[in-house]
Amino acid sequence: MARGGSQSWSSGESHGQPEKQVAAERGGKMVKETQYYDILGVKPSASPEEIKKAYRKLALKYHPDKNPDEGEKFKLISQAYEVLSDPKKRDVYDQGGEQAIKEGGPGSPSFSSPMDIFDMFFGGGGRMARERRGKNVVHQLSVTLEDLYNGTTKKLALQRNVICAKCEGVGGKKGSVEKCPLCKGRGLQVHIQQIGPGVVQQAQTLCLECQGRGERVSPKDRCEGCGGARVTREKKLIEVHVERGMKDGQKILFHGEGDQEPELEPGDVIIVLDQKDHSVFQRRGHDLIMKMRIQLSEALCGFKRTIKTLDDRTLVITAQPGEVVRHGDLKCVREEGMPVHRAPLEKGSLVLQFLVVFPEQHWLPLDKLPQLEALLPPRQHVRVADDMDQVELREFSAGERGERGWRQRRESREDDEEDGPRAGVQCHTA
Ligand SMILES: [Zn+2]
Ligand SMILES: [Zn+2]
Repeated sequence: MARGGSQSWSSGESHGQPEKQVAAERGGKMVKETQYYDILGVKPSASPEEIKKAYRKLALKYHPDKNPDEGEKFKLISQAYEVLSDPKKRDVYDQGGEQAIKEGGPGSPSFSSPMDIFDMFFGGGGRMARERRGKNVVHQLSVTLEDLYNGTTKKLALQRNVICAKCEGVGGKKGSVEKCPLCKGRGLQVHIQQIGPGVVQQAQTLCLECQGRGERVSPKDRCEGCGGARVTREKKLIEVHVERGMKDGQKILFHGEGDQEPELEPGDVIIVLDQKDHSVFQRRGHDLIMKMRIQLSEALCGFKRTIKTLDDRTLVITAQPGEVVRHGDLKCVREEGMPVHRAPLEKGSLVLQFLVVFPEQHWLPLDKLPQLEALLPPRQHVRVADDMDQVELREFSAGERGERGWRQRRESREDDEEDGPRAGVQCHTA
């Protein structure tokens, strides 16, 4: 199978079984361990964007609100992201593995809390904001590429805490609030733990009785509406306007629509767009990329093809007779890419990657070959001397004499090809 010129965008070889590997390659450089990459499900050669996207999807999936039993997983995801999203820490990790990170290379020796990482990523502003305001409600919204191209409105039902209407956030009858008898109003409980012979450790935890508030409503006076919790769960319907040109991972903020808590400002609702893969187009920035398989005859003699756009128009593209399209060639149609968000008149390019389908073995009777050859550019003539070795040319099959490395390399090439061109293609005005 001919694949001339098709490798120009395959950067970095990928490997088959990262978990069993001691060392893997990243951009031509070896990495010591791949564990953090495996946790996020990315290759060691992943770009910062790929790492961000992997964290986004996993963090939303394993957030304690949605998956209360997966706290440990949530923590691991956040640690892996904290290291791999910081170029300095990522270098330290690539060179020295987890050991080097834990020994506190340049940067920070300890991990931030998973919730802080989450809030920082999704726009909650970290612990300080969390203590002054109600919790943000973060929700992922699945959209198609058509939705992002044309714009759409989606209705979403969300669960959030609202201040109990029955007790107006007091938790019981007016005047029934008393100092918490368990923590004596401090909001904290002190535990003494023996951690070794003669060694005790003092640990403070939030008081469970009053949730750290220092006061409570005595059980007999508790509000029937909220059971003393001061808030109730409510289903809220929101309308999300997905605008033309918005991107995968883009956040849409609903200020003050998140969790309510007495005496605090309400949190926000943050909708995160999650684009489903499209069967034909891949998006790269403002450009759309698609692969087009053409027959050898079309590659040599020209062709016409139609393309269905994301807003359901039909484009006709033409390669004029005489124009040669090579395997792997990239061509583009200007202004047929994605619309630019908030710039309604601007659009990116539609980039076509051509894959030339060669005919099957022995597709042409042998006696016809001279006719074909007469039409094609002349072949190279080779002078064969007696002292040269005549060898047999065979199909190369993977697994032969344990050459597994070859197989993996070939497969990763295929993968890269399926991904399409890596870098954006400059589209020149004709
Ligand atoms: Zn208490
Ligand atoms: Zn109540």
